[in-house]
Amino acid sequence: MSALAVRTGAVNLGQGFPDTDGPASVLERARAALLEGRNQYAPGRGVPALREAVARHQARHHGIDLDPDTQVVVTTGATEGIASAVLGLVDPGDEVVLLEPSYDSYPAMLQMAGAVPRPVTLPAPSFRLDVEALRAAVHDGTRLLLLNTPHNPTGTVLTDEELAVVAELAVRHDVVVVTDEVYEHLVFDGRRHRPIATFPGMAERTLTLSSLGKSWSLTGWKVGWATGPAHLVDAVLAVKQWTTFTSGSPLQPAAAHALDQEADFPLALAAELQGRRDLMIAGLTEAGLAPRVSEGTYFTVTDVEDLGWTDGAAFCAALPERAGVVAIPLQGFSTGDAGRHLVRWAFCKDEDVVVEGIRRLRAAD
Ligand code: PMP
Ligand code: GLN
Repeated sequence: MSALAVRTGAVNLGQGFPDTDGPASVLERARAALLEGRNQYAPGRGVPALREAVARHQARHHGIDLDPDTQVVVTTGATEGIASAVLGLVDPGDEVVLLEPSYDSYPAMLQMAGAVPRPVTLPAPSFRLDVEALRAAVHDGTRLLLLNTPHNPTGTVLTDEELAVVAELAVRHDVVVVTDEVYEHLVFDGRRHRPIATFPGMAERTLTLSSLGKSWSLTGWKVGWATGPAHLVDAVLAVKQWTTFTSGSPLQPAAAHALDQEADFPLALAAELQGRRDLMIAGLTEAGLAPRVSEGTYFTVTDVEDLGWTDGAAFCAALPERAGVVAIPLQGFSTGDAGRHLVRWAFCKDEDVVVEGIRRLRAAD
């Protein structure tokens, strides 16, 4: 969809990346690292300074205590963490419970691993977790539960009550939870994101994934990390050894600098994004679409049936020509048919870009 936006000159409200780069001091640190000669292979687990900074980050924000030598591994974005976790923990035929809709790399990786996906829906229009469906899906034979909160694409932030049910089921059925928390700081209206690893009985069975990209507006750096008990981190390492072997060296000291020295950047970004969300929601509402008010991430979802369309993919395919705007259909995030009429809009773009996108949508017939 980003290629389509470039080709057609449309305003890109599709792919989730910001128009403005993250903190200047972090860019400066990356430049220094390159010139200091940090250009040869990093250790497989990642450079110690970044692993230590990740451990401090988890302690500072979430009260999670980690040994940086055994409980942290640096990955090439959270995407590598997802791939390695699935390939390292799942055998062909294993059942994996995941939320539906879900980030598009999960079903793809499950397919590559030969897993049997057991999707649990976050049903429109509330996009809250269907706790009863979750209870029905998880059993003693479940190998893995793949969680994502704050949730892409719906913008749902799972509540403590919902997470408590996930934790209770994981403990009762002895299931490993892999949780994708790349939007951990991007929550709105005074909400807090609580990692599932902090619930009773969960620290020893949770592998937490995150990355620099979203929270520090550096999506192109692809610096991420996986944290948790040593045996789960080792499963990631076992795959990483034969895929990437190590992640790029020079950005790792700069990522450590971001986590330590620009620790407040994500909080300021979240406040800014909340304003952008409100602008987007007001604009989409005026354009005849009634969006769900996102609780976190930088996405909001609308139902194109509001405008008389029944198919989100057809709506998005026609949108560049009709309105000069690009958005993403939820078909890209779903294996089933439930999201057929839903479309995701990204509001992490500069304010004038969001304003122009909205102006074009309102002007379209
Ligand atoms: N998980 C989710 C839920 C995402 O939205 C994204 C978006 N890029 C990723 C993982 C990938 O993160 P990274 O760029 O760090 O690989
Ligand atoms: N996570 C971002 C999104 O959902 C971008 C990642 C991608 O394009 N694969 O838009």
